[in-house]
Amino acid sequence: MRLSRSLLPTLKETPAEAQIVSHRLMLRAGLVRQSAAGIYAWLPAGLRVLRNIAQVVREEQDAAGVQEMLMPTIQSADLWRESGRYEDYGREMLRIRDRHERDLLYGPTNEEMITDIFRQSVRSYRQLPQMVYHIQWKFRDEVRPRFGVMRGREFLMKDAYSFDLDYAGAELSYRRMMLSYMRIFQRLGLKAIPMLADTGPIGGELSHEFIILAPTGESQVFYDAAFEEIDYAGSAFSHQSPADLQRFFGLMTTQYAATEEKHDVAAWDKVPPERRREGRGIEVGHIFYFGTKYSRAMNFSVVGADGQPVYPEMGSYGVGVSRLVGALIEANHDAQGICWPDSVAPFPAAILNLKQGDAACDALCEQVYAQFAGEALYDDREERAGVKFADADLLGHPWQIVVGPRGAALGRVELKRRVGGAREEIDAADVLGRIR
Ligand code: ATP
Ligand code: MG
Repeated sequence: MRLSRSLLPTLKETPAEAQIVSHRLMLRAGLVRQSAAGIYAWLPAGLRVLRNIAQVVREEQDAAGVQEMLMPTIQSADLWRESGRYEDYGREMLRIRDRHERDLLYGPTNEEMITDIFRQSVRSYRQLPQMVYHIQWKFRDEVRPRFGVMRGREFLMKDAYSFDLDYAGAELSYRRMMLSYMRIFQRLGLKAIPMLADTGPIGGELSHEFIILAPTGESQVFYDAAFEEIDYAGSAFSHQSPADLQRFFGLMTTQYAATEEKHDVAAWDKVPPERRREGRGIEVGHIFYFGTKYSRAMNFSVVGADGQPVYPEMGSYGVGVSRLVGALIEANHDAQGICWPDSVAPFPAAILNLKQGDAACDALCEQVYAQFAGEALYDDREERAGVKFADADLLGHPWQIVVGPRGAALGRVELKRRVGGAREEIDAADVLGRIR
């Protein structure tokens, strides 16, 4: 992308309405613009980050055998009347009436809709188990939308649903999903820890929130640093092996991790002091087993092996895709701006032309830009070098390729790593190879 013709409106001043660093940086770097309370437009650079996160989620869900689909944002109120949640959900639900006076709603989640889809097409025990997911916008009319995309009203979520014939199957789906989540967060460079969450009337121990530490988190959390040393993305555990999944789940549930509400001081005291991690936490995902709650309420049964009806056991599994953009910035920034991990950066590199209009500089920049086939940000504006450096730091590209008249005469550029600031001078022809 050529910056001179891009919708990348950076701000020098700190926007007064933003209370936390990620929100300030998202506005200053031109990633989003608010269109109403808790509702944001994603500008080109912000959308690239959102898509990169969604892509990591997609790859890991696919690898775990979860099928991608897409359900609509608008749902019929009748489905929610069947489950009883149309009344229960309260004012967080955005209710809509169409021209035929039918009640609709903007989906805050999709349990009812997916149960309806399954009951229309799945009839036999032979068709289960199955897991599906979609990445779709949700609307929740939060009492207090705040912190930018972290607590929005319209937000992007990956939500998945599992259907199994019995509890043992549902438990396996749950563990498989937990492994997939740990891989997702590791690939995003986040230390997200699964913490036991409230299961309400369902009971049991199959509800976990995935929480990362950040000073602006909404709750106090405690965990054993042993979680951070496990290589989830490595090949130690297979999604296909029940024994692996059991070993993995054991590892996730025997080490100490708890939110304020579930904190057990006696157990915490047994964690060696050097391994204690404590601070504010942001919830980036939540997985939940709820048994036959929806299949029974909505009368979805399949014919079992013995010819008797079986109500499938279900679970639902959410990742806050748009919240993760903010959470990633909370975890990766410095005084100059964002420091994107390579896996999600809007562009791998920015090319800074320090003397726009100088024939040698322009030619060398074009040559480097061509190596990236459009997938770099070329700062070709008629601006001072200081402005270009500041904007590149603010936007947080993992690499900066600096082209000035002295180097350009020799076909050389300066390559700078955003994190740590290491610099080296290399031949322009070698840039892409060096970055890869
Ligand atoms: P919270 O406790 O933060 O309100 P929740 O328990 O209501 O979240 P879930 O229904 O479990 O959220 O949704 C799954 C994920 O969607 C959450 O883990 C979170 O990352 C994300 N999410 C939920 N509400 C919002 C929101 N208002 N804005 C952005 N992301 C959200
Ligand atoms: Mg939750």
